[in-house]
Amino acid sequence: MTVRVAVVGAGVSGLTGAYDLRRLLGDETRIDVFCADEAPGGILASATVGGRSLDVGAEAFIVRRPEARDLVIELGLGGDIVAPGALRPAVWSGGALHHLPSPALMGIPATPAALGGLVDDAQRRIVASEEDRPLEWTPGADVAVGDLVADRFGEVVVARAVDPMLGGVYSARARDLGLREAIPALAAALDAGAPSLTAAVGDVLSRPTGTGPVFGALRGGYRMLVDALVDAARADLHVGAVVRGVHRVGARYDLDVAGHDGADGLTGSGATGYGATGYDATGYDATGYDAVLVAVPVWTAGSLLGSAAPDAGAAFSGVDAAGSAVVAFAVDGETPQHSGVLVASDAADLSIKAITFSSRKWPHLAGAGGRSVLRASFGRLGKPVVDTDDDLVAAATADLRTVFGAAGLAAPDVVEAAVQRWPTGLPHYRPGHLAAMAAGVASLPAGIAVAGSGYRGVGVPACIGTARDAAATLAAHVNALT
Ligand SMILES: Cc1cc2nc3c(=O)[nH]c(=O)nc-3n(C[C@H](O)[C@H](O)[C@H](O)COP(=O)(O)OP(=O)(O)OC[C@H]3O[C@@H](n4cnc5c(N)ncnc54)[C@H](O)[C@@H]3O)c2cc1C
Repeated sequence: MTVRVAVVGAGVSGLTGAYDLRRLLGDETRIDVFCADEAPGGILASATVGGRSLDVGAEAFIVRRPEARDLVIELGLGGDIVAPGALRPAVWSGGALHHLPSPALMGIPATPAALGGLVDDAQRRIVASEEDRPLEWTPGADVAVGDLVADRFGEVVVARAVDPMLGGVYSARARDLGLREAIPALAAALDAGAPSLTAAVGDVLSRPTGTGPVFGALRGGYRMLVDALVDAARADLHVGAVVRGVHRVGARYDLDVAGHDGADGLTGSGATGYGATGYDATGYDATGYDAVLVAVPVWTAGSLLGSAAPDAGAAFSGVDAAGSAVVAFAVDGETPQHSGVLVASDAADLSIKAITFSSRKWPHLAGAGGRSVLRASFGRLGKPVVDTDDDLVAAATADLRTVFGAAGLAAPDVVEAAVQRWPTGLPHYRPGHLAAMAAGVASLPAGIAVAGSGYRGVGVPACIGTARDAAATLAAHVNALT
């Protein structure tokens, strides 16, 4: 009998999983990939502004971690990895642009001087005296990053140094993020007996970090990776196919699948250019799978797995989502000499959370003829983006004018703008999240595995890591059956 495997979700996690399942199980295996969207890629998406294509979800990956780098090289795209230029982001606070705290660990300063002009002398003295105050730390404990830093260095340091850094990665404030989740090396340094936060930060920063750039991107954007994965997976890709449940039937699994708008029997509209098939719920057999990889956002995985894996389903359903929106711009005229701007969470004068001056940050996106591309982003956990697209563009344009003015530049001449919303973009890594997810994963029945941003980190490399591990687990399960 033909081995049949289902992959639910066609973001980087699902596509990596499908590719690895193909590699590990061979050409005879039937692999169905179900994708609720009209095209694969999930958060790896791009928009065209001013004639230039720009990533409007993820734009980069950590190249010092192996997962994304190795996969990109394996797929023959190693020559397309590009490095950022030398400019760094600035922090917006008090109506001005400041240097990013340095030396610092995710914005947590190693010394009072690292904060530069972000804080006043009184706050600097609080930071300087931190080592003299006893620190109570229970090894293995998890606390909110914001609570720890506020207690040791003060709320202002959290708002102006730590929130801007963590907000860029997690779309959440430091007080909502677990230390073990967001900065595990710092938690480990405290577990190992660092007597103060200053000592723990110093300890982590003193370790070797590798050489070369920390981040990389693909010359043609993340679309290159999506296309390469779709090609290499050689799976049956069903777009506009919403999976509502995974049910165990004996040793196999059935999927409950509906058309795009959730009405049974509707046909998905189908994406072109990927060899994808629009899903027709009336004529398709989505039963009897030997293994299922669930690579949808973690809370959706929770609802899909309620019947086949109730404990995991309950754990995953409990995770909430941080939404965001990205406005991509093409502008004429000079942009500030920074790779971007991270906005302090106590700055009431801007509504954006961050700007990336993409043409400054990435030499391969450098503007020709004075035209540049950039992205402005909105939204944090607990602060959903509710404005209309026109309002977002207007608010971002006003904020750009303010920031450009502070940098001594004329207001940008906007050529074109495009809005991309991520209403449930990132999972919330609250204290205890990693342990809860690990317990959920450990309770999954044989033949089901999960992958994605909810389990071991939100970045693309972490997603790829979960997908490759999940594919290996499922391939071993299938091989043991046959
Ligand atoms: C604005 C933004 C910027 C980011 N920037 C970076 C960055 O620069 N670097 C980095 O490393 N990370 C970044 N991230 C994080 C990273 O992009 C994501 O964590 C990662 O892309 C998630 O991939 P995924 O495949 O797990 O999920 P997704 O990309 O969310 O894909 C989920 C897939 O599941 C499908 N799906 C959902 N529900 C169903 C269902 N019921 N049935 C069938 N299919 C379903 C969707 O159609 C989609 O195909 C960013 C995230 C955001 C929101």
